Amino acid sequence: MYCKNCGNELKENASVCLNCGVSRGVGKKFCENCGYAVENENASVCTNCGASLASKATINFGQGENKSRLIAGLLGILLGGLGIHNFYLGYVGKGIAQIILSFCCGVGWIWGLIEGILILCGNINEDASGKPLDK
Ligand SMILES: [Zn+2]
Ligand SMILES: [Zn+2]
Repeated sequence: MYCKNCGNELKENASVCLNCGVSRGVGKKFCENCGYAVENENASVCTNCGASLASKATINFGQGENKSRLIAGLLGILLGGLGIHNFYLGYVGKGIAQIILSFCCGVGWIWGLIEGILILCGNINEDASGKPLDK
């Protein structure tokens, strides 16, 4: 098993490359199976060993991919009072505050709805770690 970002050999149980810090399976530059440097980033099969290069997409709320603006916005509008969109984006403290406000007086629902709209309109543009949101 090799890091797809830098070609470093990974231990069987490693979830993160110790060389470049990228999660296993993330990257397009090297073959995961043989470590061969892939010349064409759009190739679907390794020209060296024939293994599939398609990235196994996993839903990862922690790191890596940018969060989806659409998902975050819809979560805010539909479930804003539960702060789900804030948890999704990593704003855990804000999400908890929203839940408390929703149960106390319902304000959390309005707050969440407004935030959902702000996210969809582009007024809120990044998640808690400062990564820009995808479209
Ligand atoms: Zn690496
Ligand atoms: Zn290969």
